[in-house]
Amino acid sequence: MKILVANIGSTSLKWRLFDCSNNAERLLHKGGFESVTDYPKAIEDCLAQLRDAKAIASESELAAVGFKTVIAKNVTGCVRLDDKVLAAMEAYKGLAPAHNPAYITGIRLFAQRMPSVPLIGLFETAFYQFAPEAMMRYAVPDSWFAAGIRRWGFHGASHKFIAERSAELLGRQDVAARARQLYLDGGKSPVKGAPLRTISCHLGGTSSITGILSGVAIGCSLGMSPQSGLPHNNRVGDLDSEALPYATKALGITIEEAQRQLTKESGLKGLSGLSNDIREILTAAENGNARARLAIDVYVANARHWIGSYFLELNGIDTLVFTAGIGENRADIRAAICANLDHLGIILDAEKNKATRAVEAVISAENSRVKIMVIPTNEELVVARETKRLLENSPK
Ligand code: ADP
Repeated sequence: MKILVANIGSTSLKWRLFDCSNNAERLLHKGGFESVTDYPKAIEDCLAQLRDAKAIASESELAAVGFKTVIAKNVTGCVRLDDKVLAAMEAYKGLAPAHNPAYITGIRLFAQRMPSVPLIGLFETAFYQFAPEAMMRYAVPDSWFAAGIRRWGFHGASHKFIAERSAELLGRQDVAARARQLYLDGGKSPVKGAPLRTISCHLGGTSSITGILSGVAIGCSLGMSPQSGLPHNNRVGDLDSEALPYATKALGITIEEAQRQLTKESGLKGLSGLSNDIREILTAAENGNARARLAIDVYVANARHWIGSYFLELNGIDTLVFTAGIGENRADIRAAICANLDHLGIILDAEKNKATRAVEAVISAENSRVKIMVIPTNEELVVARETKRLLENSPK
C-alpha cells in the first residue's frame, strides 16, 4: 500500500512516499520544491519524479494522499477531505492564515489531478480532542468560545509520534497500542500496567510542549493558534491580551503592523536582536552577547514553565522526551532545561547528553527516576499510518 504524504506551504510542496504494505513502513521517496509559483506544475513534477525513481508506475498505484492539515471548524481527527471538510477548513482560515488557504488550494488541485485517489487529512489538532476541557478553555464569554476561541493545541502528529515511540522504547506495548488506536476508539483501550506519564518537548522553529497520559494528550502549550506558548523563532509565544491594543497606542502603529512585528520580529529573533536561529544565538551568547544570553534564558524559562505545569497535572512523570531541530540537536539547551530538577527525579547524564545528536537515546543518569530521552520525530510517518488506518477501517 503506497501512501504519498504531501506537505503544502503557500509557495512550497514537499512530499514523502511510504510503502505501508503489511507491517512494513518503508520510505520510498522524498523530495520537494520551494518558491513554487505554478502549483499544478509542481504536482505534475512531483509525480514525474516518483515515476522516474520507479517508486510508482502511475498515480493509480497510490492508495491515498495524506495531508498534515491544521485546523477546521467542528472537524478534527483523521478524515477524508471532501467538500464539507474543505468548507470547514475555509471557515477557520482566520485561525491559521499561513496554512489553511494553501492547503485548501493544494488539496483541490490534487483532487482535480487524481479524482479516484482518496485524499485524507490528519488535523494537527487531532491529538488534543480527548484532553480534559478544563485544560483547553480560555475564560472568555460563550460567544467567543462559539467562535473558536479556545485552546486547540497543535504539533499533534509530532507529539503523537513521540507518545507511540517513547512507549515502545520503554517496553510499554500496551500504551503504544493505545496511542495507535486513539482516533479509532477515542483512547478507550485498556492500559495493562501503571499509567505512563510523558512530557514531550517539540523544540524547533515552532516549539511546543505536551503532557501525555498513557498515550492520550492532556494539553499543549500551543493554544488557539501556533502563535502561543514558548517563544518561537520569530513569533512571540504567550502574550498578555492587553499588550496588543496597548502597543498600537504606545508605539503609534496599526494593529496589522503590531501583528506583523509579533509574527516576524519577535520570539528568539526579537529578544536577541540577532537571528531566529538558535545556533547563531548560542554562539553569540558564548561570546558574551547579553541579549543573546537573555533570549536563551527566556526560552529555557518558558520551556520549564510548561514542563512544570504538566509535571504537576500528571502527578510526576515517567519520561521526558526532546524532539525537533533544537530538541534533537542542542545538548546545551536540553541541559539548561533539565538543570537543578533532581528533587523531581530528573537528572541528566552530562556525557550521554553531550554525545547525543539526532538519534534515539536515553540521556538520563542511572539514578534519575525519570527517563530522559531524545527521539527524532517523524510527522509524515504518523500521517501515513493514520491514513492507512482510516482506509482499512472505513474503506469508503
Ligand atoms: P520547524 O519547527 O520549522 O519544523 P525544525 O524542527 O527543523 O523546525 O527546527 C528548526 C530550528 O532548530 C532552527 O531554527 C535551529 O535553531 C534549530 N536546528 C535545526 N537543525 C539544527 C542542527 N543541526 N543543530 C542545531 N540546531 C538546529
